Amino acid sequence: MAENTNYSDWTETQWRERLSPEEYHVLREAGTEPPGIGEYTDTTTEGVYRCRACGEELFRSTEKFDSHCGWPSFFSPLAGDKVIEREDRSLGMVRTEVLCANCNSHLGHVFAGEGYDTPTDLRYCINSISMTLEEKPVQ
Ligand SMILES: [Zn+2]
Repeated sequence: MAENTNYSDWTETQWRERLSPEEYHVLREAGTEPPGIGEYTDTTTEGVYRCRACGEELFRSTEKFDSHCGWPSFFSPLAGDKVIEREDRSLGMVRTEVLCANCNSHLGHVFAGEGYDTPTDLRYCINSISMTLEEKPVQ
């Protein structure tokens, strides 16, 4: 049977069956993995980072940069419509949450104007556990 890709219909049970408890906590409960431990923090391998929840292509190695912040950082998503950005006022801060536009899973946050020497001066600070790297040539 083909998978129902209308992810807004998915129940908590379905997500829990697909994801590990750690993945579920970050992707579906907007958790954050501790800094420095994510498997892609320092990865420079060429490829495309897919959403670990739904498989959608979200980020590329060509926009990944070394921010020294402890999480994988990108200065841009693969395309603007791949992610949703919304205001997040949790933890007493005003931040901008980044979600997968395809399945509405939590990916991380985006920060602007920090002075990084990148084309956008944006830092998409994304949890490794929210993504799966597919190694392949990227143009
Ligand atoms: Zn997704």
